[in-house]
Amino acid sequence: MTVPQHLLLVVAGPGGAASSIVEAEAGHPQLSVLDVAATRGDGIFETLSIGAGHPQALQAHLDRFARSARMLDLPVPDLAVWRDAVLTLAALLADHDEAWVKIVLSRGIELPGAAALPTGWAYGTVSPEFRRERTEGVDVVLLDRGLRSDVSATSPWLLAGAKTLSYAVNRAAVREAQRRGADDVVFVSSDRLLLEGPTSTLVVRRGDELATPPDAFGILPGTTQADLFAAADQWGLTTAVVPLAPDDLGAADAAWLVSSVRHAAPVRSVDGTALEVDAPLTAAMNGFLRARRS
Ligand code: PLP
Repeated sequence: MTVPQHLLLVVAGPGGAASSIVEAEAGHPQLSVLDVAATRGDGIFETLSIGAGHPQALQAHLDRFARSARMLDLPVPDLAVWRDAVLTLAALLADHDEAWVKIVLSRGIELPGAAALPTGWAYGTVSPEFRRERTEGVDVVLLDRGLRSDVSATSPWLLAGAKTLSYAVNRAAVREAQRRGADDVVFVSSDRLLLEGPTSTLVVRRGDELATPPDAFGILPGTTQADLFAAADQWGLTTAVVPLAPDDLGAADAAWLVSSVRHAAPVRSVDGTALEVDAPLTAAMNGFLRARRS
């Protein structure tokens, strides 16, 4: 069976703001070799999950897209146009229980002496199978990100916490985890505070409390974590956004890496030391995340 793939080009209008949507062929080349998305990773993106045709956490993703654009001094994206693009792709993927859409805004084509005209596109396809990660869990290693937890305040030009196209570091970290026999990573700041995964937010359970590190530490504010925290009282849990140290993860009653497409993956070991997998709560969280309709 061929996997359905859909592509829309989001065309920039005056001032660089997105103004219209054009259907395009996902299997055909579309990007110029001069586009700084390709040559410098200079742009932003969002990846959303689509549940049976419904984009999940759509407004939160659009708001974060605009936030990343501000952090990179990109033109303010016209969120109504981007929303339409996501909804159009979601409708095309409505026959699938789980799909995803990625929206990308690049600074565009760099020509000498001319302001770059931003390039935008939205691509959607069916999600892969995550049953093993969602039930058995993932083995993680702690890796030093080499940045202090106050990096956002001291060095905003490092763009910590923006969702930029420069994910080569995040991919390299996962390869390092695999070399160490693990699946995934929790980054640690150089002052030894827990941060996030390369494509996920860390959530720990301590008794009746779910906790996650503050995004002031230069981490991406997670939409999945936000939805889980908003729902926590239905599982009898309170929530806290607090600094966490590596020892807090080892001592946690359970932990998860949570993200839009994979949802909640329980952490089953940290640097080779086993952690309890809370199977009932994991199943409840994933059931809740899959069932979201906005
Ligand atoms: N942190 C990073 C660095 C990410 O790339 C992602 C998602 O890809 C997340 C956290 C989780 O964010 P969300 O739950 O909005 O998918």
